[in-house]
Amino acid sequence: MRESDCIFCKIAAGEIPSKTIYEDEKFRVILDINPATKGHALVIVKEHYENIYELPEDIAAAAMVLAKRLAKHMTEILKCDGFNIIQNNGKTAGQTVFHFHVHLIPRYEGDGNQEKMCWDHLELSQEELDDICQKLFQ
Ligand code: AMP
Ligand code: ZN
Repeated sequence: MRESDCIFCKIAAGEIPSKTIYEDEKFRVILDINPATKGHALVIVKEHYENIYELPEDIAAAAMVLAKRLAKHMTEILKCDGFNIIQNNGKTAGQTVFHFHVHLIPRYEGDGNQEKMCWDHLELSQEELDDICQKLFQ
C-alpha cells in the first residue's frame, strides 16, 4: 500500500536517496534532513498509513520495539545524554509529512533546545481533571 505522491513512500522504497541507518521488511530508519540534534532519525513504516489512527496495532507495536532498540544503540554510539521519542499526528500537532513516522531525537547537554520539547502547562481545576478523567476512563 502506497501513495504515488508521498515523499516517505518514495524514500521507504529507495526511490529517493536517504541516509538510511536501519532497514528491514517493515521499516526504513533515516536521518532527518532538518535535524533537531545530531543523529535525529525517523522510523518510517514502509506501507503508507497517514497517522496513528490508521496504523494497524501490530505495526504500532513493532515500531515502538524498534524505537526502543535504536534509542539504546544510538545512545551508545552517539554518547548522548538523553533521548526524545516523538510522533506527531495531524497538522495541529505539528505533522508535516502525512505518512506515519516516529522521531528519534538524541539529546545532548546544552544542545540548544529546551529541556522538554515543547509545551506550556495548563492549570486545570480538580473538577476539570475529574471531568476529563471520567470521559476517558475505559
Ligand atoms: P513531522 O513534522 O512529524 O511530520 O516530521 C517530518 C520530518 O521529516 C521533519 O523533521 C522533516 O525535517 C523531515 N523530512 C522531510 N523531508 C525529508 C527528507 N526528504 N529526508 C529526510 N527527512 C525529511
Ligand atoms: Zn506514504
